[in-house]
Amino acid sequence: MSNVDQQEISKFEKMAKSWWDPQGDFKPLHLLNPLRLNYIDEKSGGLFGKRVLDVGCGGGILSESMAKLGAKVTGLDMTSQPLEIAKQHAEQNGLTIDYQQSTIEDFLATHPEKFDVITCMEMLEHVPSPLSIIQSCQALLKPNGVLFFSTINRTFKAYLLVIVGAEYVLKLLPKGTHEFEKFIKPAELLAWSDEANLRCDHMVGYHFNPITEKFWLNQDVSCNYIATMRHHLF
Ligand code: SAH
Repeated sequence: MSNVDQQEISKFEKMAKSWWDPQGDFKPLHLLNPLRLNYIDEKSGGLFGKRVLDVGCGGGILSESMAKLGAKVTGLDMTSQPLEIAKQHAEQNGLTIDYQQSTIEDFLATHPEKFDVITCMEMLEHVPSPLSIIQSCQALLKPNGVLFFSTINRTFKAYLLVIVGAEYVLKLLPKGTHEFEKFIKPAELLAWSDEANLRCDHMVGYHFNPITEKFWLNQDVSCNYIATMRHHLF
């Protein structure tokens, strides 16, 4: 059985055309990207020359920015239109990125080579089994590699800010982008990571001011957050 929610995939298919519009459906990801890129670059000891796997890469906002820092990026997603947009956009920008339509589970079965850095941003809350994704990422990570997950906490605050606020009041995201029940508590992410033989090195929350349209990081993980993981033994 595949770990793919087809309804989720068609939702993202429909949003394909607006992927690179800074004022479109993915405006929050465009605004957030420099902050998360900087975090990933810092925590991975510099992305330059690293082999990076971006799981659930969509139209490639993060993949491209990592490639621009000199990473050799492979991007996986299960949509076709956003991946097409990603390919065209990379080509227009003179970037070489290996985009593939695949689940991480299938990719793992056919690709024995491992990665220095794996990123899985804003995707765990859209799949039937986050644990399966985490385990597959772990299996594709080099012994001293670094893995990043970002997702949304299942709190009343996140419900108010991410669903009511961003989707209904500010209309920053299309209605129905997120389902509250699929949000993930940090303790759940930690338990799954433990089960996958990963240890969490660092976790930080990110926050958005809709007036200044600025994101920033701090230790409050009650809404959106990002975690850095390594193999248990390292
Ligand atoms: N990671 C990107 C996009 C986040 S949107 C970023 O942060 O910029 C979530 C993405 O996950 C969508 O592109 C969606 O198609 C993808 N996705 C959802 N389920 C998936 C699965 N099982 N395998 C691969 N990609 C998936």
